[in-house]
Amino acid sequence: MSQKLTAVIIEDEKNICRFIESILAGESYKTISASTGTEALSVIASQCPDIILLDLGLPDMDGMDIIRSVRSFTATPIIVISARTQENEKVAALDWGADDYITKPFGTSELMARIRTALRHSSHQGGGSDSVYSCGGLVIDFEKRLISLDGEEIHLTQIEYKLVSMLAKQAGKVLTYDYLMRQIWGPYSDNNNQILRVNMAHIRRKLERNPAEPEYIFTEIGVGYRMREE
Ligand code: CA
Repeated sequence: MSQKLTAVIIEDEKNICRFIESILAGESYKTISASTGTEALSVIASQCPDIILLDLGLPDMDGMDIIRSVRSFTATPIIVISARTQENEKVAALDWGADDYITKPFGTSELMARIRTALRHSSHQGGGSDSVYSCGGLVIDFEKRLISLDGEEIHLTQIEYKLVSMLAKQAGKVLTYDYLMRQIWGPYSDNNNQILRVNMAHIRRKLERNPAEPEYIFTEIGVGYRMREE
């Protein structure tokens, strides 16, 4: 790959903006920075970046409005960079179409891992997806609907299989409780996600060596679940 990937960094705090710019420059990205929402939207529309890093707290616009506007014209992955710890804001950002979020303070490797995951998912869109998930001792063959752990077949119920395969197909990405509820139990599913938690507990008992310290499916507290990616 000789062509540089372009990242737009939307962040009004100069120190954080420079920090992100230096990380990305070190990874050979071309970076464009914007410190307001208005500036960000015009840069995104004119430059067609490969990835967007968005701080939710900007002086002129709410981050949610930026996500909504960006999604009206492009599917470019958006990673929300938030100082806010409120779980409902992370969930709202994901539901509005952000691909992932990262909470300040964060490290270089964490940021780059999130970016790679988001880029990988966006490049898979529309193309054929992998027919096998394999990570550690866990193998899922989506065509045969077979799951094995350390070479032994695991038996899941229909719903458990749906949950695991959805998470595995988007490994590395956090899927919100709401998203999973809607995908599996339909648009009129109960707001109460107890049924999801119960199913996840059963899945963990089958898939995880120690369900209290999961190796494959991680809980993003208050937000959703994320499946391990190699
Ligand atoms: Ca800010």
